Amino acid sequence: MITKMSTDRSALPDESGHFGSYGGLYVPETLMTALQELSETYAEAKKDPAYVEQLNWHLKEFAGRPTELYFAERMTESLGGAKIYFKREDLLHTGAHKINNVIGQALLALRMGKKRIIAETGAGQHGIATAAACAKFGLECVIYMGRVDMERQALNVYRMRLCGAEVRPVDAGQKTLKEAVSEAMRDWVTNVRNTHYILGSALGSHPYPMMVRDFHRIIGQEAKSQIFEKEGRLPDELCACVGGGSNAIGLFYDFLEDESVQMIGVEAGGRGIEQGEHAARFQGGKLGVLQGTKTYVLQNEDGQIELTHSVSAGLDYAAIGPEHAFYRDAGRIDYTYATDEEVLEAFQKCSQIEGIIPALESAHAIAYALKRAPEMEKDSILLVNMSGRGDKDVQQAAKLLGEGDL
Ligand SMILES: *Cc1c(COP(=O)(O)O)cnc(C)c1O
Repeated sequence: MITKMSTDRSALPDESGHFGSYGGLYVPETLMTALQELSETYAEAKKDPAYVEQLNWHLKEFAGRPTELYFAERMTESLGGAKIYFKREDLLHTGAHKINNVIGQALLALRMGKKRIIAETGAGQHGIATAAACAKFGLECVIYMGRVDMERQALNVYRMRLCGAEVRPVDAGQKTLKEAVSEAMRDWVTNVRNTHYILGSALGSHPYPMMVRDFHRIIGQEAKSQIFEKEGRLPDELCACVGGGSNAIGLFYDFLEDESVQMIGVEAGGRGIEQGEHAARFQGGKLGVLQGTKTYVLQNEDGQIELTHSVSAGLDYAAIGPEHAFYRDAGRIDYTYATDEEVLEAFQKCSQIEGIIPALESAHAIAYALKRAPEMEKDSILLVNMSGRGDKDVQQAAKLLGEGDL
């Protein structure tokens, strides 16, 4: 086992947006000014008590923070090991953690005087959070979404349109998240003067990975004080699913310097770790650059991006957030994966014994917890990030579980 490096998280990323050798700024020249403006606006806003107060107010009044830290008593009993707690980001407005970041960035857009918002979405969760925030703040909203994802998540498409957003289908390539990001970037290059791009995960070029992480730190900050309130001590282990990595880094960040706390990120194992059948970047991914950042990417020998697959659209992406690559190298965070089959089982089990229907993304973290908790001591604590609710997934789950169309 690699010895755990003690890492000074406050020094990361450096000024050019690097987490060690990962991250950075890999964008067309035309976007440099916009990214610079965003970095400066964010740096100022962070220090402005009025901005911070406004952000906290909207997080409370509109999004529904703080979220509960819930003791999953029956799941704990049925597994006979660690005490399992869920951090209930699924209870937030629009159904997932995404809204934390969206509110933060929408307020920055207002500060920059940009009245038009664009965003990409995979499962639709980032799209609906963005559409809702734009409605609330009176901003124009265009969402790019792969045609395949639009079919998988028709309900979310309609919800976005109800909130007044224009949803533009993307027909390039695999017609999923990666292509939607490319289209959003193309739009941004053209309309950069009046448009802010609300990127939905801890990905892309600097300052996004850092900024998105900061907006989600509230998850870990709340969880830490809540577990002290309930148990009087730190948890033994944290786990979270990892798409781009925003809900995971949001939970983990404020525990990074607590060396007794283990952290596990769970990637999408899809139909198994074979080329084109999964989206687990740490299972066969290589160092590369994708959509603005240097990180682990699923690619072939020639650097062509490989096809990815996951039962959950929100984890179906060929690159992982650069900060995760850094902490993996440092041995501070470990990564594993859950297969579609394990995920569907966790999805049902959690619904049946806790009365909580998890998002298929979050069910990856639960699938890990189902395996891990029985191996842990009875008085130990395993804290699972319930990143979102499963309402958006019930139709797809019914189909996959052989129950036909709802
Ligand atoms: C988008 C999404 C994810 C994946 O994104 P991260 O940036 O890795 O958090 C996970 N869970 C839910 C519910 C989502 O909507």
